[in-house]
Parts: sequence; structure tokens; C-alpha cells
Amino acid sequence: MRTHQPDRVRPKKSLGQHFLHDKNIAEKIVQGLIAPGGIEQVLEIGPGMGVLTQFLVQRKDLTVTVVEIDRDSVVYLEKHYPGLPIISGDFLELDLRERFSGNYSIIGNFPYNISSQIFFKVLENRDRVWQVVGMIQKEVADRIAAPPGNKTYGILSVLLQAFYTVHYLFKVPPGVFNPPPKVMSAVIRLERNGRKALSCNEALFFRVVKQGFNNRRKTLRNALKNLILPAFQHLPPEAVTEFLKLTILDKRAEQLSVDDFIHLTELIEQNSGAANSI
Ligand code: SAH
Repeated sequence: MRTHQPDRVRPKKSLGQHFLHDKNIAEKIVQGLIAPGGIEQVLEIGPGMGVLTQFLVQRKDLTVTVVEIDRDSVVYLEKHYPGLPIISGDFLELDLRERFSGNYSIIGNFPYNISSQIFFKVLENRDRVWQVVGMIQKEVADRIAAPPGNKTYGILSVLLQAFYTVHYLFKVPPGVFNPPPKVMSAVIRLERNGRKALSCNEALFFRVVKQGFNNRRKTLRNALKNLILPAFQHLPPEAVTEFLKLTILDKRAEQLSVDDFIHLTELIEQNSGAANSI
């Protein structure tokens, strides 16, 4: 007889639900999370029916909280994981500062439709999120891990690599999910690096990186014009002309390392003399 509490959740495409049914892979993902300091606070995003959660809750070195947007999955988890702290809602709307004191890690087989947004939220909370273990589309994993000069090197690569060391753990084929996604997946691990604050204006750094890559075929001179010209408007035109001669501006965004981007941001900041007003 059917009860109101489902014994399995029917996958919903709109929520990016692809349930992993390979327990060995699930265990391997959970092993990717380290807890060197003893007890580690962990937030799992999108547990679904708990394929990762079952291994997370076994670990004595972790205290686990999960956040799940899907009501059916929440009902399932409440039944199968009594006592598990479940936040029923949208990770992207979650006030992480209010929820967690101290440092914590994030783990999950991420909903692929919002994986970039998850990483931007991680960046906003980089003072507390010291580790992320996530399964994402292989294409996004490749981008995040890409070095300068690579075609897939982009905004997320620079911003995440500025603050995290990226470890590419392993690839996962579509067949181990229900339903199988159209793309290959990969598991990556991010670990916060030693860079606490940038030596340049951080908001400007984010803007320089984003604008540089939004026009990735152009030289930085052209790609960043809309950013540089207003910042220099109070200076004599000769100063602007002189600045635009800088050879770093001959390059395209994909040729710049994280340190180059920091250096370029410093140059804009120092030469415009108006870091706070940019
Ligand atoms: N971890 C499970 C499910 C992965 S599918 C497994 O490996 O089998 C992605 C999960 O993220 C689904 O359970 C989906 O409901 C959930 N999800 C999607 N968008 C979300 C959001 N914005 N916040 C929290 N969870 C979300």
C-alpha cells in the first residue's frame, strides 16, 4: 500500500535532479573531504535521497547539516535520517553567516543548473568556507581548473584560483546517475589558499576580471575601456594616453595569471588615483 512518505523520490528535471546510484563513487566523494582539525562543520547542498549523506553521517570527524530545496526529498530525508539537521530551502538564498560560526566545508553533487552560482556564493563567503568538494559538469570542472592560456580559462578560474587551490579528483560517467545527465561529470576539491586579502582593491579586481573575460577576444585595452576611462576622467588626457600604452594591455584576459590580474588592478588603482571612487 502507498503511504504519504515516498520510499524514493521521482527525479525532477527543473531542480537539476540526477540521483547518483553508485555507492562506491559516493563513498569516494565523501572521502575527498578532509577534517584535519578534528571536528569539521559540513554543509551538504542538495542531498536528494542522501547517497552522500549516508557516508557523511558515519564520520565521527564531521557535523553535518544539509540544505535541500525539494520538498519530496526533505520528506524522504526526515524519514530516513531522523535527527539530521535539514534546512528546507534554496542554498542560494541561505544566510550562511547567520547559520555558521567559524569555518566550515561545503560538499555536494551540485545541481548543475546552478553550479556557477554556487561557486560565486562560495567566493562571497571565502573568509569561512575553507574547503569545497563538489561534483559538477566536467566542462565546468575543466574551466575552474584551467591554467592561463587555455581556451577554457575564464572568470571562475581566475576568481576561484585567486583564493583556492583546485584539486581535480576524478571524472564520473553519466551512467551512474538516474536519470543520466547528457554530460560527463567530475569531482573537484577546493582548498582555501594562504591569500587572505588581495594587495589591490578586491571589488575592482572582480570587475577587471569579469569585464576582461566578457570581451575575451579583445585586447584588455579595448575590453576594459568602459572601466578605465571613467576611472581616469579627472586626469589630463595625456595621462590616459600614457596609461593606455602599457604593454600588459596588449594582452587578452586569457593570457593573464591571477597575479597578473592583481598587478593590472593595482596599476589601474594607482594611476587613476581614485581606487575608492571606481
Ligand atoms: N546528492 C544527490 C542529489 C543530486 S541532484 C545525489 O547525488 O543523488 C541535485 C540536488 O540538489 C537535488 O536533490 C535537488 O533537489 C537539489 N537542489 C536543486 N537546487 C537546489 C537549491 N537551489 N538549493 C538546494 N538544493 C537544491
